[in-house]
Amino acid sequence: ESTTFAVRVAPLGAFGQVLVLAEDQTERRRVEAVRRDFVANVSHELKTPVGALSLLAETIQDAADDPEAVTRFSGRMQHEAARLNYLIKDLITLSRIQGGDPVPTPAPVPVDEVIQEAIDRCNTKAVAKDITLAAGGAEGLQVWGDDELLVTALRNLIDNAVVYSPEHTRIVVSARSAGDSVEVSVSDQGIGIPETSQERIFERFFRVDAARSRATGGTGLGLAIVKHVAVAHGGEVTVWSKEGSGSTFTLRLPALGGVTLAAPSSGSTP
Ligand code: ADP
Repeated sequence: ESTTFAVRVAPLGAFGQVLVLAEDQTERRRVEAVRRDFVANVSHELKTPVGALSLLAETIQDAADDPEAVTRFSGRMQHEAARLNYLIKDLITLSRIQGGDPVPTPAPVPVDEVIQEAIDRCNTKAVAKDITLAAGGAEGLQVWGDDELLVTALRNLIDNAVVYSPEHTRIVVSARSAGDSVEVSVSDQGIGIPETSQERIFERFFRVDAARSRATGGTGLGLAIVKHVAVAHGGEVTVWSKEGSGSTFTLRLPALGGVTLAAPSSGSTP
């Protein structure tokens, strides 16, 4: 890492070299701080449901002769356990893809199938809020990638759209071909995201409203996963949003024709 810097700055003379090496140190310190923050955040996020579970277990013991209370508290225990489960699942997904490596076994993926699968997985939640999920434009479009990861990314976007939208609204998932790319966007008529937060929402554990996110079962990792899936596919994710009127998230992926993603050499798949 520092060797690359030294070679690159050599013609600048001693002063330039010192300056760039100093930058390198700053970057290393920043990466270290991010890692420390991440571990602290993970510990905190894990401690909350674990703490609630042990408290509920104690309470249930005290309420052993009140069947109604036992039912209520065991329901809450299931809820906390489910939260813990989502969090662990998201952490595992994130740890698989956040290295910046391309997806390990890319294959042609029909975009309409990804959209249908992602919508199917969010449908129950949408129906419960009388939210209409509409999709279109994906017929015949294909990308080069990992279908499971792509479904996970799109499901996270649609799930957020449902969670952060009021009842009786509409969510549109549309795909289109744009040059060498395929763009899949998810538009909602929800609460929107303040402009000052729009840049940060793709960071791990960043939430505009932490209490609201937790209450709705959010882990704060969904958009970080979407971002890393996009990057692993040689694409990106962007957001347009206006507070009070809604948000549009766009996933841009290289189309099957113009792909730069490297296929793995045979036998190298982990
Ligand atoms: P969470 O599990 O909290 O939803 P995400 O990483 O998926 O975590 O999203 C980060 C934050 O971005 C959310 O807490 C929420 O504040 C905001 N957000 C994401 N999607 C939307 C959306 N469609 N509408 C409004 N806010 C959103």
